[in-house]
Amino acid sequence: MTTPVDRSTTWPYEDGEPGEFTYSRFSSPTVAEAERALGELDGGVALLFASGAAATASTILALLAPGKTVALAEGAYYGTGSVLGELARWGLRQVEFDQQGAPPAGVDLVWVEAPSNPFLTMPNLEAAAAHPAPVVCDATAATPIYLRPLEHGCDFVLHSATKFLAGHDDALVGAVVCRRSEDAARLREFRSRTGPVAAPDVAWLLLRGLATLEVRVERQTESATRIADRLRDHPAVETVRYPGFGGLLSFDVADADAARRVETGTRLIENMTSLGGVTSRIEARSRWEGARVPPGLLRLSVGLENPEALWADLEQALAAA
Ligand code: PLP
Repeated sequence: MTTPVDRSTTWPYEDGEPGEFTYSRFSSPTVAEAERALGELDGGVALLFASGAAATASTILALLAPGKTVALAEGAYYGTGSVLGELARWGLRQVEFDQQGAPPAGVDLVWVEAPSNPFLTMPNLEAAAAHPAPVVCDATAATPIYLRPLEHGCDFVLHSATKFLAGHDDALVGAVVCRRSEDAARLREFRSRTGPVAAPDVAWLLLRGLATLEVRVERQTESATRIADRLRDHPAVETVRYPGFGGLLSFDVADADAARRVETGTRLIENMTSLGGVTSRIEARSRWEGARVPPGLLRLSVGLENPEALWADLEQALAAA
């Protein structure tokens, strides 16, 4: 009834021939089962990586070469820009663009995020798909429940599966889902050679998380919608960003001091990073992203707690803002 965790790193040959599984850097049964499940959800061929960042770095390294340029959505997860920044030393270039419009001409890879973290904008997927370069859509915050980017012409979906997909803050894991099997074969080859694979226990936790994904994100959407509506009416809140689905939202209070008072004033909602878990958490993003975000921007990941209790907690914290 449940997939066993197979922690073997190597398996016997059969009559002198390698079988489906030979060495776990190439593939392993529990990881393969989680990849099958995620591939089915996103409608493509899925590959797991050691983290979302490992999935990002591997995709870029496997597909591009020195001198190539990535068009990255403005306001996308700051860590994606950091990966590209690391690779600048190896001759990779990046330009930013407004993902609500068309990507710039002449780039070699288009990278959008649906919705962007923490600005919560949605990409224009039709315009991205019309670009001749391959398109990667980081759909970490949307999940396949709300968006299947391959159906909109994207070539790759990227997930920090650490977040909503695994869903319980206990598994660091990334995924790339490919539209074409040739692309999946290239990424698999790169991953097998360089080794940023997911561990079997983590794959098992991902499978466990996927079983409840739909009910979790539906509940998170209901609660986040209610909270976003009330934040819009709150006198201490200036801007609310919420795309209308999912558990992630952000809002601005007056300045960095006010944001600090709110994030340290919540009791039920933890002051910590990450998103997509079953417990709610809030943080001022300027501690990580500096001047790239407004100083009063707070990112809230809504969990599965009672929405009225969450609102009561936010309201008492906002009173200090
Ligand atoms: N993409 C998005 C949208 C993220 O929010 C994150 C992490 O916060 C990543 C990618 C990187 O994933 P990981 O932390 O699993 O390496």
